[in-house]
Amino acid sequence: MRKQIVAGNWKMNNDLDASKSLVKKIAKGIKKEKLKKTRVIVAPTFVSLAKVADKAKGTKVEVAAQNMHFEKSGAFTGEISADMLKSVGVEIVILGHSERREYFGETDEILAKKVDTALANKMEVIFCFGEVLEDRKSENHFKVVESQIKNGLFHLEANAWKNIVLAYEPVWAIGTGETASPEQAQEMHAFIRKIVADKYNAEVAENVSILYGGSVKPSNAKEIFSKEDVDGGLIGGAALNADDFLALVKSF
Ligand code: 13P
Repeated sequence: MRKQIVAGNWKMNNDLDASKSLVKKIAKGIKKEKLKKTRVIVAPTFVSLAKVADKAKGTKVEVAAQNMHFEKSGAFTGEISADMLKSVGVEIVILGHSERREYFGETDEILAKKVDTALANKMEVIFCFGEVLEDRKSENHFKVVESQIKNGLFHLEANAWKNIVLAYEPVWAIGTGETASPEQAQEMHAFIRKIVADKYNAEVAENVSILYGGSVKPSNAKEIFSKEDVDGGLIGGAALNADDFLALVKSF
């Protein structure tokens, strides 16, 4: 049975103090919640990662990195390896965010390597993808999403999918205030589940959590999360405020 997930991608926000204070508030806010089916994840910047992971220990909050390099170690200035993440207790990594693809040149090929490295290190991957506005306007969005998933993940064995979470983030809805309608999200998520079922089998498709990301906030989350194939959200702006984020966690 797949899990519901509310994951906060803090992007390049929050210094160390703000990060520690935010994770503390979130952990406190969900302490008494049952959350049997819901996982709560936060992804701070690398600078705050170790301290946030420490603070999250023993709470219901899990901690993810926003990126990772595919090489084990060496002359890659400014980069972070899987071993380093694991050394501070972080075993989840967001890969393929549209901002990484757009501003930092991360291609499908690079992402496939990162996915392999993460899985080889027994880490869990939140794999992001999504179309830009022109793709949607020209009705190419299904094709674009299919190719991102195929190129990034379809080389994996079925067994590897237990460590994959998918995050559909239409680029036109990220940070713009414009959300995909619950129907648009459901339509795409159902399509994604179908291509995974066609490539692998119904079990893999049924078990993979598919998150929606793009201007999710307390006022629209309930409706989006209520859709059959939407298993939660990857949240940017609204994840920076503890009250908003906690409201999202309680939106199922
Ligand atoms: P917003 O929620 O700010 O639109 O960002 C979504 C996102 O990119 C999460 O990774």
